[in-house]
Amino acid sequence: MAEANNFIEQIIDEELESGKVSAIMTRFPPEPNGYLHIGHAKSLCLNFGVKEKYNGKCNLFLDDTNPSKEKEEFEEAIKKDIAWLGFSYDRITHASDYYEQIYNYAEKEIELGNAFVCDMSPEEISLNRGTLTEAGKESPNRNRSVEENLKLFREMRAGKYADGEKCLRAKIDMASPNINMRDPVIYRILRETHYRTGDKWCIYPMYDFAHPICDYLQGVSHSLCTLEFEDHRPLYDWVGITLGFNPKPRQIEFARLNVTNLVMSKRYLKKLVEEGKVDGWDDPRMPTLTGIRNRGVPAEALKDFCARIGISKANSEVQISYLEACIRENLNLNAERAMGIKKPLKLTITNYEGSEEVDFEINPNEEEKRTRKVAFSKNLFIDEDDFSLDPPPKYYRLKKDGYVRLKSAYIVKCDDVIIGEDGKVKEVLCSYVKESKSGNDTSGIKVKGVIQWVNADTCRDIEIRDYGYLLKDEEYAGQDFSERMNENSVMIFNGKVEPYVFNRQFGKPYQLIRTGYYKLLDVKGKTVLSQIVSLKDNFNK
Ligand code: ATP
Ligand code: MG
Repeated sequence: MAEANNFIEQIIDEELESGKVSAIMTRFPPEPNGYLHIGHAKSLCLNFGVKEKYNGKCNLFLDDTNPSKEKEEFEEAIKKDIAWLGFSYDRITHASDYYEQIYNYAEKEIELGNAFVCDMSPEEISLNRGTLTEAGKESPNRNRSVEENLKLFREMRAGKYADGEKCLRAKIDMASPNINMRDPVIYRILRETHYRTGDKWCIYPMYDFAHPICDYLQGVSHSLCTLEFEDHRPLYDWVGITLGFNPKPRQIEFARLNVTNLVMSKRYLKKLVEEGKVDGWDDPRMPTLTGIRNRGVPAEALKDFCARIGISKANSEVQISYLEACIRENLNLNAERAMGIKKPLKLTITNYEGSEEVDFEINPNEEEKRTRKVAFSKNLFIDEDDFSLDPPPKYYRLKKDGYVRLKSAYIVKCDDVIIGEDGKVKEVLCSYVKESKSGNDTSGIKVKGVIQWVNADTCRDIEIRDYGYLLKDEEYAGQDFSERMNENSVMIFNGKVEPYVFNRQFGKPYQLIRTGYYKLLDVKGKTVLSQIVSLKDNFNK
């Protein structure tokens, strides 16, 4: 068998070897209360990675025990995101598919003397739970007879009591050092219409009771979850042991993925959408899977990132520049090159007449080099940032009396500039060196700078959008998200682009050379070139 990729696979290897388990099954268990984000991709890669490695199974398990927050819309979005990442699950299951069985297991716990109906309100229960240093107080209802508990629990189901008037609690240990074990509530009364079961139920199981049962009923061997559930594991095991599950699923916890400058909480992401801080769940700045898909990030790049950061048992924060490096690496190999200008500055070649086509390389990383034709003329645009009237030393872009190569075309020399009324350079006048055509340069002139350009006669106007992060930099880490919000996360340029890009289909990634990776995006009916990732690599390897 291939080497274990992480500590979880190591555990599984040992269990297989000792015969403790024979069939491997995981599940990906989102709550359908929002859209998946990059953190979920880590969990998806782990769960489906284990499935693939051990020739096992993995279900998509929708953990829908909280009817007030869950919606069909979210379930559909989750399925679409998983399909985008290329994972296929064996079955789709829901906690609600098992409500009847979970209910029967609750009655069984009552019959075994392991659960009781409690009359305390949620507030009273919480007040009597004790603290880390102090035991909790037992409920006065703790020693009700099995018969009375069964009768009351059935009445709860039948709708005899108001929301919160009674609940079902596990009878474990009010003095346990683990507060989760202090007679936790396992069923509550809640009159809330569920998106799948409607008003069939007015009692709902709590996550900690439902989850181990659903895992068992699906045949899950390893229930992988994030570290915050470590303290819940004794309760997970208690349910499995008291109900005699065999083989009992095993819960293993791993560290959540946190990325600098990204919010990774559905609750907060929802707030951004609801308050209109972003254009929706699929806004290209959002760290949701639908957002980064819309942004143009290839699924492979995200999976590659997840594989590289690995699975660990200790929480940490990954730099966003690492994610960007993975995206850039993928696009560098796969994106076609093109020319676009964010801040157009007119450049006229005074000694050039007519027009011609030059050969532009599609992607220098391809083994079989391919080129395409780009129309060239005397009327061009270059980027404002590639010209300086007052250049610093070692300035290799265009300056007065300086030479630069126009990518795939000729070397030009700046002879003069026209200054506009605002005192800024309005136009650059150049002459070209006839013998310097790319691929056939006999001029003998050596230039250090190569800049991109577009042909003013054929180019198209286009809005170019660059993005900043939704959260301000790391120095703000630890502050509340709302204080870290970067209010200037979209930068808009009235740019120009080759017709080749403008006429292409939406969604295809391009490298605008010397600028960044972009794709055409429809933003409320307007076609824009939307940044996927910048070209600059600032990840500290
Ligand atoms: P959120 O706090 O964003 O709502 P959650 O943990 O409540 O996240 P669920 O829908 O319950 O989200 O999560 C589904 C699965 O994905 C769980 O196993 C959860 O542990 C895992 N998961 C969620 N966020 C992350 C993350 N940042 N890193 C790794 N796994 C995650
Ligand atoms: Mg949750």
